[in-house]
Amino acid sequence: MANPLDIADNPDVKPYRRGGEEVAADFAGLHPPLSPAAAQIEANRCLFCFDAPCTAACPTGIDVPGFIRGIATGNLEGAALAILEANIFGASCGRVCPTESLCEQACVRHADAGRPVAIGALQYHAVEGMLARAGHPFTAAAPSGRRVAVVGAGPAGLSCAHGLARRGHGVDVFEARETPGGLNAYGVAAYNLPGALAQREVDFILGIGGITLLTGRALGVDFTLAELRRRYDAVFLGIGLGGVRALGLDEGPLSGVEDAVSFIARLRMAQDKAALPIGRRVVVIGGGNTAVEEALFLTHHADQVTLIHRRDRLRAERILQERLFANPKISVLWNKVVVDILGSGQPETVRGVLLRDTQTGALSELDVEGVFIAIGHTPNTALFQGQLDMDEEGYIRTEPGSTRTSVPGVFAAGDVQDKIYRQAVTAAGSGCMAALDAEKWLATQPETVSAAE
Ligand code: NAP
Repeated sequence: MANPLDIADNPDVKPYRRGGEEVAADFAGLHPPLSPAAAQIEANRCLFCFDAPCTAACPTGIDVPGFIRGIATGNLEGAALAILEANIFGASCGRVCPTESLCEQACVRHADAGRPVAIGALQYHAVEGMLARAGHPFTAAAPSGRRVAVVGAGPAGLSCAHGLARRGHGVDVFEARETPGGLNAYGVAAYNLPGALAQREVDFILGIGGITLLTGRALGVDFTLAELRRRYDAVFLGIGLGGVRALGLDEGPLSGVEDAVSFIARLRMAQDKAALPIGRRVVVIGGGNTAVEEALFLTHHADQVTLIHRRDRLRAERILQERLFANPKISVLWNKVVVDILGSGQPETVRGVLLRDTQTGALSELDVEGVFIAIGHTPNTALFQGQLDMDEEGYIRTEPGSTRTSVPGVFAAGDVQDKIYRQAVTAAGSGCMAALDAEKWLATQPETVSAAE
């Protein structure tokens, strides 16, 4: 795909605005892992609460006091197993989970010590070593003869695939992209979750055996839902959100304007991150976590980043907002919407945005060389129209408290089904639940479809 920012004749849009080594250092990891000694000290801050509010706050129900006791007593392997038993994406979730609003928010040490136990960092510490080790900690049950198709190799799809493989079912995972991992591979800021770690975790998950990964195979392009339903005993849909919310400008696709997730994906996949041409002054449109993360991300490349938000407060998490407001390269324009991109369209480059104040209606211009849109994503489920029950926005509907869709034998979870939380940890948890739901359903089906083929 042509790089929309790679347009000649604008001296303000250029690669190597900062040195390659500087940018590489930025991406080396925001949170250094705990040393064994620091992990022991932190683990011993845990009060091992009987009612474990941290466990209740974890979407995957990890036995937090249990695994922390493992670290405190030197049983790292036991700690890792306790985590992975509940969440096979325990390593990445230790780094990317919004722990401050989940387990760590519930930690009772807030009250007596003013600071929670660093549960996310301890979780990562416990699991990280296991990813590097040869072999897989869980064994698969004897082959059941059943075969399940999993569509999407993100946290929901691979958690489901792993759960099914543990129960002895054969799994084919279809992934539209060339690299598995979903948003862990493409969408999370690289300093939070380096690409090599995302890949190592996928390799570890597949290490259970019985899972065949088929990349570059897209539902609706290479096969249909009806075909999968015919060829497999059950189908799981964990396809995430493929659509981009429209900005509402009159023009069609605009040169110089890029969606946040596609920019982050491009940056993550780039061998030399400093080589991407970026404007000197750029704007990010939106007020959610993605917009704030992208604005922070862009400060590694651009000189000035302006966040443009249509309201007077952000919806992003507090911790991200604190980092945003502490960054001198970022300013925020409140109550403004972009009504035009100035200078876009070949052969010109972006030279600014036209803004309208949402309260006064006043128009103003802002000179910039790059525009990044982070106003949210939508399900790309039009291809199931009439085949599966969906809501008016295209999210797949499932039975209450279950991942069963309106089609028998078809299950769905993750972002395409969960329009509220949309986090890696909730996707992993619901993928795990889908494996259980599929298992129960398979038990009621005497005929094995896949073995007949
Ligand atoms: P989002 O939460 O839906 O936020 C979209 C933002 O764009 C909102 O601020 C919204 O404004 C604004 N917006 C929507 N339509 C607009 C329009 N036409 N013009 C201008 N602004 C518009 O989407 P997101 O930020 O991509 O996040 C998606 C999910 O991923 C969330 O669940 C989020 O928590 C998760 N996520 C988490 C992390 C993290 O944990 N670090 C990082 C990235 C994403 P209003 O506020 O007015 O609605």
